[in-house]
Amino acid sequence: MNKLLILVVEDDAPVRSLITITLKAHDYRFITSATGEGAVIDAASHNPDIILLDLGLPDIDGVDVIRRIRSWSNVPIIVISARSEDNDKIDALDAGADDYLTKPFSVEELLARLRVTQRRLSIMQNNLMQKSVYENGQLKIDYASGCVSLGTEELHLTPIEYRLLCLLAQNTGKVLTHKFILQNVWGSSLESDVGSLRVFMATLRRKLEKAPGSPQYIQTHIGIGYRMLKI
Ligand code: CA
Repeated sequence: MNKLLILVVEDDAPVRSLITITLKAHDYRFITSATGEGAVIDAASHNPDIILLDLGLPDIDGVDVIRRIRSWSNVPIIVISARSEDNDKIDALDAGADDYLTKPFSVEELLARLRVTQRRLSIMQNNLMQKSVYENGQLKIDYASGCVSLGTEELHLTPIEYRLLCLLAQNTGKVLTHKFILQNVWGSSLESDVGSLRVFMATLRRKLEKAPGSPQYIQTHIGIGYRMLKI
């Protein structure tokens, strides 16, 4: 039984009913809001497990909704945006959204994003138990010793590759923007640094992925960033 409570924030009635019909059919509980102000109040009063948030709302900007909710809550937020709103999507991820869906989306995509987010929720709960070893598929990171292994093989990473991997691992399931990664690994976020990030990512993947052309662990979001997948 799936009893997570989802807050659906969408002003477009047909899209909202597509989402709620899907949620109902898959045994999620839900509440809906058609405005940003309403979403902030509902998030505070109902304490939902996941928020699905349309970025184009009639009153306040979706990115402001994220900032306001993030000031007190880490609830996973999946943003829904139109294809023309790519920059808004990046701003939303930078403001603390976890993932995104681009309109038009299918019911399968919606359910897949919810599953990824549910897995992320369970990882966040595990993290609360202060685990010192990260395990995901064959990948193992021992934070205390700084050792990384893939199956029985030890990986020899440079300090930057290690920091990059740890950042992705600590945010497994979440899409991290180029800007976020640059700020957290290098302490800067110049647009020109995206090129060097790609280079480090390529060398990390050569060590980590069996087939770097079809990566199993680190997923690329073109023009946006990267995500560590839960295997
Ligand atoms: Ca809208």
